[in-house]
Amino acid sequence: MKIFRILLAGLMLTFVFQSSVAQAVCNQSSASTADNDLWNTHGCWQAFFLWSYKAYDQRQSDWNNRGWNDACNANMEFPKHWNAAYLVTYGLQDANCCSWHGTTDYRKLGEAAGSNFHSGLYHDAGDGTSLFGGFTPHTFGADELTTYCPLYNATSANGNPGSRAGDFMHEGWHGWLHKYNWNNGSCGGHRCGTPGACTAKDACDYFYFHGVGAFAFGALYQTDGTANRFHSPNQVQVEFLCDVADYPKSWVPNSVRQAARSDADARAAARFINGPGYKCGNPRPW
Ligand SMILES: [Zn+2]
Repeated sequence: MKIFRILLAGLMLTFVFQSSVAQAVCNQSSASTADNDLWNTHGCWQAFFLWSYKAYDQRQSDWNNRGWNDACNANMEFPKHWNAAYLVTYGLQDANCCSWHGTTDYRKLGEAAGSNFHSGLYHDAGDGTSLFGGFTPHTFGADELTTYCPLYNATSANGNPGSRAGDFMHEGWHGWLHKYNWNNGSCGGHRCGTPGACTAKDACDYFYFHGVGAFAFGALYQTDGTANRFHSPNQVQVEFLCDVADYPKSWVPNSVRQAARSDADARAAARFINGPGYKCGNPRPW
């Protein structure tokens, strides 16, 4: 009886909380230049989003007021989400000489299916403005990857397809840490405070340098359990963003590349204990 009461109270709290935020959504009145430029390369490709909503396990109940039934309106969150998925799926060169990792790695990291990279997950969006993304493991059913308004609002520096996709990688990597039971720190899966060169409070990682070609395409999930062969969430994100900035397909708009580079470089400067980490445009391979 007692357990039942507590459970009921929990359900009511959940209900009250959700109904109080149901009206709030991210800014749906505009899209960033980078979003619009990428959008114009596919012009709302219906076959793609009919594939990608399944590949990313997006559920109508989560996206109803975010463009689920307005998938060609580039100002809404659902279209912005699949615009980022499009960049991951088609936008990278996979240059054997130089790319950190391949499309196959980035796709498996971001997409919903369970794999060597993470257990099954689904994507939703949240109205928060203080976080970019979150990874929430669930005991029953798929784990949850949430992306928040700063990745959607055009006025936010991170409201662009590269940064959004970069967060799929970052949060997906929390899924990797979770799957293999690695402890990357007790502050939301990061080191607490501002250790070493890191200034992003409670969001600090190590950057585990590796040479280009150290991980065959498809092998990003591998580790030997030492710093010689290991990744942190911010590192995977920076490597992805720099692959977008430095080795994209020729048709990827310059605005998309520049926004990805800004995000990577800001992150490299602020988020690594042994920073600044790798910056886009630095020589590779070494
Ligand atoms: Zn790497």
